[in-house]
Amino acid sequence: MAMKTGEQYIQSLKELKPPVYFMGEKIENLVDHPAIRPHINAAAETYDLAHDPQFAELVSARSHLTGERINRFTHIHQSAEDLVTKVKMLRALSQRTGSCYQRCVGFDAMNAVYATSYEIDQKHGTEYHGRFLEFLKHVQANDLMSCGAMTDTKGDRGLSPGQQPDPDQYLHIVERRKNGIVVRGAKTHQTGAVNSHEIIAMPTTALGPGEEDYAISFAVPADTPGLVYIFGRQTNDSRKIESAMDAGNPRYGAVGGEALVVFDNVFVPRERVFMCGEYEFAYPLVEKFAALHRQNYGGCKGGVADVIIGAAATLAEYQGVSRAAHVRDKLTEMVHLAETLYCCSIACSSEGSPTPSGSWGVDTTLANISKHNVTRFIYEIARLAQDLAGGFMATMPSERDLRHPEVGEYVQKYLQAAAGAPAEHRMRMGRLIESLTTGIALVESMHGAGSPQAQRVMILRQADLESKKKLALRLARIDA
Ligand code: SF4
Ligand code: FE
Repeated sequence: MAMKTGEQYIQSLKELKPPVYFMGEKIENLVDHPAIRPHINAAAETYDLAHDPQFAELVSARSHLTGERINRFTHIHQSAEDLVTKVKMLRALSQRTGSCYQRCVGFDAMNAVYATSYEIDQKHGTEYHGRFLEFLKHVQANDLMSCGAMTDTKGDRGLSPGQQPDPDQYLHIVERRKNGIVVRGAKTHQTGAVNSHEIIAMPTTALGPGEEDYAISFAVPADTPGLVYIFGRQTNDSRKIESAMDAGNPRYGAVGGEALVVFDNVFVPRERVFMCGEYEFAYPLVEKFAALHRQNYGGCKGGVADVIIGAAATLAEYQGVSRAAHVRDKLTEMVHLAETLYCCSIACSSEGSPTPSGSWGVDTTLANISKHNVTRFIYEIARLAQDLAGGFMATMPSERDLRHPEVGEYVQKYLQAAAGAPAEHRMRMGRLIESLTTGIALVESMHGAGSPQAQRVMILRQADLESKKKLALRLARIDA
């Protein structure tokens, strides 16, 4: 089997039995749970579109290991063109789902570990890269979804991993055996964790001497004993159960489902360990992963912005104001911001370069700027969409009231606007804007792929201020 369909992906999840908790209860049927199913539907699109003639070129690739046609989410980038295609694929998927399809995290983790494991082997004579290649072949052959697990819980943020009073605040080795390692800790905000086949763990920060036990990377099946998942609440998530219409984007959800993933003494077999103590490679791995994941955001959020713009423009028509100059100007501004996001992701991809392993990585500065723009522009796009939508998107009655035998006709009469636009359509569009521009949808744009300060650190680190000073000194005719 090379490429799964969405249905085959969903069926394959039924064979996994990870312990997942939500709202104080253990979920027995993950695939059909209303809080989780929308995220599974979104991830399933990454499978279905690989078979769709319209999208197949974007969503599939040729494996550099086997020559087989594979899903692009399991591919190792072989060129700048691959990197550009990735961004186009993400925008297309976001336009279709208006949500997060979660699979990019494992995709980026695989590319980052691929390049880093090669570099560790070059320096230390280890055999991590060969092990990783075996894992990669398994992922490609079975078209698996992986969860890239980077973010540790961090405990006291003022202390480094080795200084924490509770060492479990960073995932670490608690036992070394001949045939593998035992690890303990947790990874937080893990997008797509509960509906992935594999968990790929990586360090979350730079590490130093004495912190060897934290310098680990490995992959384990998602239902490995000792893994426990606690699924996070989302804004208005009870609406997923109460009413499809009130949920706004009922099929795919507002954003990806995240979980706290606990590693309670998890055994990792030796052949699945890709870094074990080489602390000086922790930061290079973090940097590679972060750059690849930040590359995504102009494609991913550019596509979500397209949906927000489309919803705002449609609602303006429903409300009879689509020809007003200020409405057109706000829509223009939203398009300008969305395309600026996209430009940056395309640019960091086009300016990509090969790593020593042969895989291709993005321009790190431009990738960080791409994500940094998202922390601002999506808020502005959301603000303009809310401005255009009007207050009703936050105050309107529920779907149950719309359908109520006594008050339903009032809701229909008083929620309708321009002729030909039924109240229900106006309400659906308002709810879609509400779900795309409030709560977790915005927080994800701020903190997903790293908080703004993480980007600013990398931007300044790579800015080479000394060379910029020299430019100024030369023109000012100052000898320094
Ligand atoms: Fe992919 Fe992250 Fe965007 Fe989700 S938020 S679709 S994982 S880039
Ligand atoms: Fe994200």
